[in-house]
Amino acid sequence: MNPMKIESEKKRAQLLDGARVAEEIRREVAADVEKLKREHGVVPCLVVVRVGEDPASAVYVRNKVRTSEALGLRSEHHALSAKTTTEELLNLVESLNARDEVDGILVQLPLPRMVDERRVIEAIDPEKDVDGFHPVNIGRLSLGEVSLAPCTPVGIIELLERNAIPIQGANACIVGRSQIVGRPVAQLLLQRDATVTICHSKTRDLSSITRQADILIAAIGRAGFIRGEHIKPGATVIDVGINKVTDEAAARELFGEEAGKRIEIIRERGYTLVGDVHPAEADGVAGRRTPVPGGVGLLTVAALMRNTLKAARWRRGL
Ligand code: NAP
Repeated sequence: MNPMKIESEKKRAQLLDGARVAEEIRREVAADVEKLKREHGVVPCLVVVRVGEDPASAVYVRNKVRTSEALGLRSEHHALSAKTTTEELLNLVESLNARDEVDGILVQLPLPRMVDERRVIEAIDPEKDVDGFHPVNIGRLSLGEVSLAPCTPVGIIELLERNAIPIQGANACIVGRSQIVGRPVAQLLLQRDATVTICHSKTRDLSSITRQADILIAAIGRAGFIRGEHIKPGATVIDVGINKVTDEAAARELFGEEAGKRIEIIRERGYTLVGDVHPAEADGVAGRRTPVPGGVGLLTVAALMRNTLKAARWRRGL
């Protein structure tokens, strides 16, 4: 046996499988939906509203509608023209708020520039706000109360808990302070008794802070930004970023042993996806990390399904 080989195998971070956890959540939701229907005659209903022709939004919405149907939820999809005004959207949201059979309302972001996004989000009934972006839900989350929390952060917590990664007492560091990922995941970790640090673009000496983290979460939007030097040996690294890499030399630098496969994907498709964490360097330092694709990205829709089920139960006191 070659001792060098054993050494290098030992050093590779274990990959946390988002697909497995997402499938577990979907299976649980499907069983609970079935039970709700059998015992109370209730079928949760999710309404997704999309404005304009953004191709990425169209894919996300299709995926949400398809998953709802596969799990036995009802779904409704409103695809509106890019010329839709704020007033028209507010009227639609009002009518959805008023319909008792509607449990979840999701307005796919980003909205076209002329639409007042904040006003639209704030018009959604907080009890139907399955994206968890309404100020009432954000407030409840930061008070440590039960709320509808944003889906990607909920997915991250599920991934940690279902892989038995200790959160209580752990040093958790989040790089990125967005409303949809950084801030809410910080609140969810704090609720679970982690010691939480949030970093951002003005943070000084970033690596000295991130290197303290037992759980490091990167939600930045910059390909391979978190390098080996940012990671504490053995840490769990959660990579939220989704970035496209089109350049073969960049792929070679980022992916190490996996580079060949990624270059093939670039040649076929024009790009490959990479997170905010440098995968080859993280593999040499981290204990566990989420891959991109195949990690956090898969959990967001599963968490949305669970939020819709939760909203359906709460509103009816079930
Ligand atoms: P965002 O709103 O663009 O915010 C980026 C954050 O990164 C900001 O807080 C920014 O700091 C910080 N940042 C930027 N440069 C930095 C630097 N040099 N050092 C430290 N911090 C820096 O990001 P987001 O919406 O959370 O998205 C982040 C990434 O996650 C994107 O790649 C996005 O595509 C992906 N994402 C994935 C999912 C999913 O998997 N389902 C969901 C949402 C987002 P400032 O606040 O100081 O500007």
